Order: sequence, then C-alpha cells, then structure tokens
Amino acid sequence: MKWQGRRGSSNVRSSRGGGKMIGGGIGGIIIAGILWLVFGVNPMTALQTGQVVAGGGGSTASEPATSDDRDTQFVKVVLADTEDVWHQIFNEAGSTYQEPSLILFNGQVSSACGSASAATGPFYCPGDQTIYLDTSFFVEMRQNLGIAGDQQGSGDQDNQGKAGDFAQAYVISHEVGHHVQTLLGITQQVNEASRQVSRAQANKLSVMQELQADCFAGVWAQRNQERVQFLEAGDIDEAINAAGQIGDDRLARASGGAVVPDNFTHGTSQQRVQWFTRGLQSGNVQACDTFSGAL
Ligand SMILES: [Zn+2]
Repeated sequence: MKWQGRRGSSNVRSSRGGGKMIGGGIGGIIIAGILWLVFGVNPMTALQTGQVVAGGGGSTASEPATSDDRDTQFVKVVLADTEDVWHQIFNEAGSTYQEPSLILFNGQVSSACGSASAATGPFYCPGDQTIYLDTSFFVEMRQNLGIAGDQQGSGDQDNQGKAGDFAQAYVISHEVGHHVQTLLGITQQVNEASRQVSRAQANKLSVMQELQADCFAGVWAQRNQERVQFLEAGDIDEAINAAGQIGDDRLARASGGAVVPDNFTHGTSQQRVQWFTRGLQSGNVQACDTFSGAL
C-alpha cells in the first residue's frame, strides 16, 4: 500500500495512561479536563448515541500526536484518507461529514465508554466519537500476519508497500465505519432495537452492524483507490486475510466504568470477506444494507 507523501490528519492524538504523568504535565491535564467537559460528560451526546457515559476517569492526558514515528505517520495518513473519502460521500448525499478523533494510547486509556487497556484491542466509542488504538496493535498485526516488524521507522525505502500496511488500514477504516454508522443514526437504532428483542436477535443485529462496518471499509478502499491509487498487488488479499484472521475490533459498549469487549460473534470470516468485497466492488454505501438480510 502506498501512503507516504499524502496529507496526515490533525485529528490524531496521543494519550499516556491513567494518572502516571508526573510533573510537566499541567498542559496535558488541562487539555484532558477540557476533553472530559466537552466529550465525557455531555448528556446530549449520551442521549444521541444511546450510550451511557461512564463517570470517573479523567486521568487520561491526551495531546496532539507530535511523534513522527512511522506508525503515527501511517495512522495520520490513513485517517486523513478516510476523512477525504467520507467528506466526498456525505457531500454527494447533500450532507456534511463530521470527522472522528483517533487516540493512540499506551497501556491504559479513559473513554466516554469507560476505561480500556491494550488487551481490549482497537475500538470505537460512539459516546465521544473517538477511535482508540493502542500502540501494540501494530506489533500484534505484524506478528499475526507473520511480518517482520520495522521498529526503526523511516530511512528504509522498502517501507513503501511493506506487507501489512493495508491490513492495518482496513482495521482503522472498519472503526471509521462504526463512526459513520453513528453519524447516520444506525448505531442508535441498533441499540434501541436490541433492547426490545431477545439476546439471540440482539446478537444478530450486532453481527449485521459489524458486517456493515466491513462493507463501509470496502467502500472506502474503492473510493480511495479512485482518488489516489494507493493499492498495490496483494493488498486486497491482505485485507481479506486480516478480516478472517484478526479478531478485529471491539465496538465499545456502555458499562459501569470499563469498556466491555463484544461477547457476540462478528460474523463468520466468510461473511466478513463477502461484505468487505461487496463494498469494495460497488464503492457505494447503498450496497451495504446488511440489515435487510440479503447475501
Ligand atoms: Zn467492529
């Protein structure tokens, strides 16, 4: 996957884990306080998204990600790519896309959905419209895909097109898919419907929601390809492999203080590949109606 030389998003932030900041962190603490005021305890946000905002926390200091290491740069470019594509798609529909934030964290993090650790895996929290990625995610992806890590960062021209990049972009764009679902009100509808049906039916709804995020990731890949021709040979296979192999994300659920990982299935590998491919081939969100039961 080609990614170097493109715009990086300004919505990527770094976070150091809960309460471990010592000295010199006043600015960060103030920023965290503002973040909590704006995002963490806004009852309207909670109402709109159907999520209960967890109290407490506030110990996470986040700041603009200034690190220029390779992984951070990569995340910034992928997030910017999703911003550009989804702005386009929303504009075409006569609407306006609101960009999500992305927090890169280490160890532990507080979100409007509760606190989370690296073990939670990548997740999207509708309550603060933020994607949370822990930095070990990249290491794990490389290991899962059997790819040698490149901890040294840049300086190596072979970084361009290194296997594994697109699988990582796929996971990020899947999380952005959950953000799009939130903007479209789908997340809220699923949450409401889930409260009125059996557990088994609620699980089915969640699977459909996951598959739609896969389909949206496919739509993004297709539209981004039209825009910047970023795909290289083997990239699609890589994402399909990732869809099947990697436990993917956790769509965060409201809880009493901690992010609760999904305990439902995300759909079979085959379903995930089918819906990603459907989005990819159509480049059209209309093709992503996983809820109608087609396919
Ligand atoms: Zn998901």
